[in-house]
Order: sequence, then structure tokens, then C-alpha cells
Amino acid sequence: MNSADDRLVGGIEAGGTKFVLAVGRSPTEIVARHTIPTRTPDATLGEALDWLRHRGNLAALGIASFGPLELDRASPFWGHITNTPKPGWSNCDIVGFFAERLGVPTGFDTDVNGAAIAEARFGAGRGATSLAYITVGTGIGGGLIVDQVPVHGAAHPEMGHIFPRRHPSDLAFGGVCPHHGDCLEGLASGPAIKSRWGASLSELPAGHEAMGIIADYLAQLCHALVATAAVEVVVLGGGVMKTNGLLALVQARAADIAAGYFPGQAKHRIVAPFLGGDAGLAGALCLAQAARGTKD
Ligand code: ZN
Repeated sequence: MNSADDRLVGGIEAGGTKFVLAVGRSPTEIVARHTIPTRTPDATLGEALDWLRHRGNLAALGIASFGPLELDRASPFWGHITNTPKPGWSNCDIVGFFAERLGVPTGFDTDVNGAAIAEARFGAGRGATSLAYITVGTGIGGGLIVDQVPVHGAAHPEMGHIFPRRHPSDLAFGGVCPHHGDCLEGLASGPAIKSRWGASLSELPAGHEAMGIIADYLAQLCHALVATAAVEVVVLGGGVMKTNGLLALVQARAADIAAGYFPGQAKHRIVAPFLGGDAGLAGALCLAQAARGTKD
């Protein structure tokens, strides 16, 4: 950082139910933070702007957002939320809204890529070159870092929508994904769990078969990540992963189905988020620093 420039950077973790805002000296030195509920774009972005404006002149802003997003810098729609099912938010120019009104360089990525960036730099992935951050909650999303860079490709990964092999005790359920039925999100997200068992995993009695079934599906995603991208660290976050004992079951099942095959398996780790619920927000501040042109 230029020592003559002591302005703060701002970050927005834009989620479907809440926006978390922060300003800080760096992603690990947050000075102030604030949470607002997600409503219409006008109401939500307006309130977020108001809070940020009252924090003084910012050097840059980073936005880690729910998607889908346009991340192609060459597209006239870069910085937009695209065709989301969330009412009112399709084609929302979220970057343009803030960049025009605050007049600052603005970084932009998915919420899960943001979380992956932060976990790779400051959290569970320190020392690793490849990391995936998966959130298992109302949906299943994933961000992927390879050689320290978030993967965008044609848009951004949507690894929650792979098709796992069906568990033999779970063949009757059709899945809840509106696009694919029994993709991973359709089978193992919070709404999928509630749909067939009437409760969340943590509400079900100890020993319920749901735990093993969900762990099997999530282990298959971890297996696919190692098989396709040789990922060293898979960070499993989100509300469903807070279920006691689930992470250990996923770890055991992933080791079981890998069957000792993968080269470099001593480097593979499946872990909880080191940064807890702050990974996405820290990622937004990383995006701000990158937009500003500084890394630390
Ligand atoms: Zn799907």
C-alpha cells in the first residue's frame, strides 16, 4: 500500500438473504461492518451505498455476489447479476451502481470465488496452490482457485450441479433442482434434505440414514474435484455443513471412494472454513485490493 494513501477499501458480500458490508485496511483488518437484509435491488443497493458513503472516501470496492454473474471483462454486461430466479434481480448492474456513485475501481466475482480467494490466501489453503470452496446451504455453490487464480472460464464454475451416483437407499427421491432434478444441489442442499425428510440434518435423530446419504453425495463432489483439478484443499462451508459429525463422515467417505488411487493424496484435505462465516467478506476485500492494484 502507498503509505501516503491511508484510505480504506470497501467490501460487499452480496447474498440472497443478506448483504454484509465492511470497510478495512486489508481483508484481515476490518474497521467497520454492517449487515442489511436483501430486498429489492433499489432498496438494498441504496441502503448499502448510504452506509459505505458514511465511511469516508474509499480507495476501492470489492463485490462478491450471488450469481449467476457476467465476469467477462470484454462483455458490455460485465458486473451484472444475470438471469437469477431471485425476483427483481435479473440483469442488475450491481458493479455499475456502486462504481458510478462512489467513483472507485471495483472488483467483482462470485461469492464462492471470493470465499475461495480468502481461504487460499489467509485461511485453510495457505501454502496450497489449488483450493475449492463449497457452500452447502439453500443451494450448493463452489469456487475454484488454481495456481492462486479463481477459475472463470466461460463464466464461473457451477459445481453444485454435477450428477452424483445415486445412493442405493435414496433412489425414490426426484430431487429439487428446478433445472436438473437430481443433480447434487437437487439431492444434498438444505431444501433437498427438508423435502424428503421434513427436517434439517441437525434436527433429525442421531443415527438417521440421511447423514450417510448426504455425506456420500458431498464426498462424490470432493472426489470429482480431486479427479478433475487435482485440488489440494476442499473447504466445505454453509449451513448444512454445521451439522455435527457431517464433515468427518464426508472425509471418511471421500477416502473410501478414492480407494488410495490418487497421486499426491497425502496433500488432499477436506476441511471446514478457517475464516468461518467471514470468508466471503474477506474475499470481497481481496477483490477490492486487487481492483486498487495492491495485494497486501
Ligand atoms: Zn441442478
